Amino acid sequence: MPTTKIIQLSTEHPDADKIQYAVEVLHAGGLVAFPTETVYGLGADALNAGAVQKVFEAKGRPSDNPLIVHIASLENVQQFTASVSEKGLQLARRFWPGPLTLVFQRKINVPDGVTAGLETVALRVPDHPVTLELLRQFNGGIVGPSANVSGKPSPTSAEHVYNDLNGKIDLIIDAGSTTIGVESTVLDVTVDPPVILRIGGLSREDIEKEIGEVRVTNAEELLRRSPGTRHRHYAPNASVILFPPADEEKFRQFIQQNKAQQKKVGSITYSKVLAGIEQSSFHVILESSIEHVARNLFRALRELDRQEVDVILVESVEEKGLGAAVMDRLRKAALHNG
Ligand code: AMP
Ligand code: MG
Repeated sequence: MPTTKIIQLSTEHPDADKIQYAVEVLHAGGLVAFPTETVYGLGADALNAGAVQKVFEAKGRPSDNPLIVHIASLENVQQFTASVSEKGLQLARRFWPGPLTLVFQRKINVPDGVTAGLETVALRVPDHPVTLELLRQFNGGIVGPSANVSGKPSPTSAEHVYNDLNGKIDLIIDAGSTTIGVESTVLDVTVDPPVILRIGGLSREDIEKEIGEVRVTNAEELLRRSPGTRHRHYAPNASVILFPPADEEKFRQFIQQNKAQQKKVGSITYSKVLAGIEQSSFHVILESSIEHVARNLFRALRELDRQEVDVILVESVEEKGLGAAVMDRLRKAALHNG
């Protein structure tokens, strides 16, 4: 079992020597957790099949769930792709670096482990100075699924990574908390109109402003194009129960019901009207801006798990912009209760 080292790097002035050390670990086939603007990723050399296999083992990730390859810039795309559609290129130019993952036709040299045997490969340029420098110095692709135990809430700080993966990976690059807090939007641009496979840090509205209409998948197509999505995702140990925005009555009712069943009740709310209802340390009150909610959601779920609550009541958000990604994560977290 590797000893997990942690190195601290400043986002504004990343130390080149420390990054060089991380590059050496990656070249040697090691596993390096790295910060991005969305969540922390678990990195390995994307063209080293053995290293990629270790990512699946460390996370306990099902092998039919493909990995996103992180690259330094648009110029690296042809290393991994057989062909690139016009709309894909247009979106990459507009939104990279940023929270948009594009699915292209794969090149034959990409290990099957990365693509889970699909004919496609998912690529992204993350918007984080430390990781962009890492990618430039590494001069290749780095796979980067979320650096958590598969199925758990994603990690938005180095501490979350450590709690999940200590002893299973070689290195964690700590550059503080991530800013967006939910994963990238995954868009399949091998078809026209392109298909959203996972809504995330970039909204459907922003994508459509750039290239016109995109589609959302049905369940059957999603399984075919992105088989890994059928697994448990984002779920804390506690059961998650959602209630409508600012619904004071429902909130009170759920608290009472669960307490009557002797359950330890946690909650996460944003609306002012709900702030004073539950006077307990298991009530996490977030600011109401959707950016703040997205940034702190996984942290709050992890925090309540640490306090060993049985259920977490979560106030829903309006399903537009970043709110669509937040509701997607919450619904999936609630799907796997108990
Ligand atoms: P994660 O890295 O854990 O945030 O998850 C990566 C997401 O990207 C999952 O939803 C995968 O199913 C999706 N993904 C990765 N590669 C592909 C691909 N080649 N085709 C479709 N979806 C992909
Ligand atoms: Mg994940």
